Amino acid sequence: MNLRLFILCLLVLPQLMLAQKKTSSTLAVKDSPLATPLKQAKNVILLIGDGMGLSQISGALYSNGNKLNMERFPVAGLQKTYAANDLITDSAASATSFACGVKTNNGAIGMDRDSLPVKSILEEAEAKGLATGMVVTSTITHATPAAFIAHVKSRKSEEEIAEAFLDTEIDFFVGGGEIFFDHRTIDKRNLYQELVKKGYSVSDYTKNNLIDLQPNPKQNFAYFSAAENPLPVNGGRSYLAPASKMAAEFLKGHSDKGFFLMVEGSQIDWGGHGNNSEYIVSETIDFDKAIGLILDFAQADGETLVIVTADHETGGYALNPGSEFGKMNPGFTTSGHTAQLIPVFAYGPGSELFYGTYENTDIYRRMRKAFGFDN
Ligand code: MG
Ligand code: ZN
Repeated sequence: MNLRLFILCLLVLPQLMLAQKKTSSTLAVKDSPLATPLKQAKNVILLIGDGMGLSQISGALYSNGNKLNMERFPVAGLQKTYAANDLITDSAASATSFACGVKTNNGAIGMDRDSLPVKSILEEAEAKGLATGMVVTSTITHATPAAFIAHVKSRKSEEEIAEAFLDTEIDFFVGGGEIFFDHRTIDKRNLYQELVKKGYSVSDYTKNNLIDLQPNPKQNFAYFSAAENPLPVNGGRSYLAPASKMAAEFLKGHSDKGFFLMVEGSQIDWGGHGNNSEYIVSETIDFDKAIGLILDFAQADGETLVIVTADHETGGYALNPGSEFGKMNPGFTTSGHTAQLIPVFAYGPGSELFYGTYENTDIYRRMRKAFGFDN
């Protein structure tokens, strides 16, 4: 280092440190060693278990022969889920934090707390020529997937959210909510047909079993798994794991620049709202099967960062005394969400960025770092 640079550092560094301390001392300390990932990720797959806190994971683990794919991750961290206007977040605000990197108000989709739209990582990836996709077990217009593609004030506007699937060049999506595309009340548009006209290969649960389809990676693909909400896994739904694997393989073949994929185990949350332990456990085990296939893909691929987390915990679910391997004795404190810290698991290039305890908005920042979008 030459002398002028050295003196400059002496002058500037304390001020920089002071400035950082004023804004967020904890972030400055934690982020400095994580500025650049050891190896850049070509692909990022974010798997979100809606309402999946540590107790949901524990219940699934002990109900599943003391074994989950989530144990395969070498990196674990914790994230803080609170919304801009409430310590207890909903899925819209927390998904907006993952997707767009901002804390926002409960109910808001892809917007900041002033109701201004914020570009999502999926939209940014698409603009950079990466392939993008989503696979969910709710409606595809539900709060969690919506935050990655739409910008509306209310999560309830599912017909407006459906329009975002025509405005963004998302390459692959699977989920329920077909009625918001082809039986609309706010206008006479048929977005199913508009997708076909745009060049998508589109199908639905009335025409095909998803797992019988072999989508051509050169053509965009959409599949509606239900008119409204898909079935619970215990009601016969079986597509989450195979669709997740299909999505990763499809997206890898769709662009040689890489891809971003979001997979959601949407109904763990609904088990929590219903204070239904069997619903929670079966949905978490189903989500874990998708995680297993995605990890297999990432291990073979070698260029894929896999992140598993949740938007919040639901139900204040507890494994009370009397619980045994294979048989939980559940307790619940609420039919709503709670403020618990939520685990984050990571595997692959850039996974070391996910150690520590951080805000849910840092998931967005760290995914962008792993992609090298900051460079
Ligand atoms: Mg959700
Ligand atoms: Zn919920």
